[in-house]
Amino acid sequence: MKQQIVYDGYDSYLRIIDVIEAVGAKNIMLVCGSSFDLLQTPIKETIDSTGIDVTYFRGFSANPDYLSVVDGVKLFEDKKNDFIISVGGGSAIDVAKCIALHTLDSNKNLETLEQTKCPHLAMPTTAGSGSEATHFAAIYKGGEKHSIADEKLLPDYVVLQPDLLKSLPAYQKKCTMLDALCQAIESWWSRKSTPESIEYSREAIKLILDNMYSYLKNEDEGNQNMLIAANLAGKAINITTTTAPHAMCYKLTSSYGLAHGHAAALCLPKVWRHMGGFDDIAKALGKQNDEEAIMFFEELLLKLEILPPENVDADHLDSLADSVNIQRLNNNPKRLNKDVIKGLYREILEV
Ligand SMILES: [Zn+2]
Repeated sequence: MKQQIVYDGYDSYLRIIDVIEAVGAKNIMLVCGSSFDLLQTPIKETIDSTGIDVTYFRGFSANPDYLSVVDGVKLFEDKKNDFIISVGGGSAIDVAKCIALHTLDSNKNLETLEQTKCPHLAMPTTAGSGSEATHFAAIYKGGEKHSIADEKLLPDYVVLQPDLLKSLPAYQKKCTMLDALCQAIESWWSRKSTPESIEYSREAIKLILDNMYSYLKNEDEGNQNMLIAANLAGKAINITTTTAPHAMCYKLTSSYGLAHGHAAALCLPKVWRHMGGFDDIAKALGKQNDEEAIMFFEELLLKLEILPPENVDADHLDSLADSVNIQRLNNNPKRLNKDVIKGLYREILEV
């Protein structure tokens, strides 16, 4: 797989100038989320200092729709952009990946895709999804989630700038961190794990545990290391993809309005207890065996006040179980049938 160049540290945003020069950019498209105030950061000033024309694209929502990607591609072509910088969470980076590849432009075939792939620099503003490190993108069409996978979706450059995490609300910080932790653990036990992916998972888990409280207190060092941890967990799932807890969490987010990481973290300990047999992962969490590690995880959720939604109707369990994408479960270390999944939802939701 293609290698990407990752810069981290407090002045890493200054490397944007070097990259602009290296790729010979003349017209930049800047993709960023609508909730993110670019003016509050030194990024805009840095880009402006190059004197290069910048086109802004922020016309997309949290679960980006296919049509907004098409709009982005049109704008990209109209403005003759030749370099994409994305600044945001997983959605902004995923949209930018698709625009960079022109994946969704129906007028183009696969041969021209190769020629139109433009360089892409991604700057995550959350330490969680690891989208900057993966060759997947999640795009919604008619409200339904589509996962696109293409090696060329992987951004060419990544800038991990810790200050970008400073203004995140506390709930979002907790949930994105838990997403990274779930991704590192799921990647480890995935059927597709490799010695390389397990090493990424191990490093990510260690960094998350060592920096959790500094990060939650919004200290610079914690923010910096959590960005690196989320990036490593992203590298791990880039090889393995995720497993049952992620497959089960999607319907919980849409049904109960939970953040993605919140929902994944509720699912993970119950799935782990059902499967068992991952003492090596438990040891990476500093525990002796599965049950100790699961209890540690559950206590962590209580401490962080990441709790199941209230007033859940038991009648809903069937439709939740039906919603699980079986294809994603092929990757799970243990086969789970619909009854088991329903039972797991019952435990997760405490009904
Ligand atoms: Zn995730």
